[in-house]
Amino acid sequence: MTPPIKKTKPTPEAEGLKCPTCDEAAAPPAVAGGKSPRPFCSARCAEVDLGRWFRGQYAIPAVDAADDTIVDAMIAETEAAQGRREE
Ligand SMILES: [Zn+2]
Repeated sequence: MTPPIKKTKPTPEAEGLKCPTCDEAAAPPAVAGGKSPRPFCSARCAEVDLGRWFRGQYAIPAVDAADDTIVDAMIAETEAAQGRREE
């Protein structure tokens, strides 16, 4: 069982910025010399997010090379540039 997520009260600085992990208001910016879990609401949520990256639950979107419409467009573009377009 996971421990309850510590919730922080929203501040004017944090308004509009939501924790990507739990959707609560983000922690306020760090004061001079301090640390802030921003854009997360707490250090725990930051660690949860880091854990998701490590487990491969996040991925960078990539172009699907098997998508024929993209390949066809690239071939047509190359042929047009080379001036030897067929048909
Ligand atoms: Zn959170």
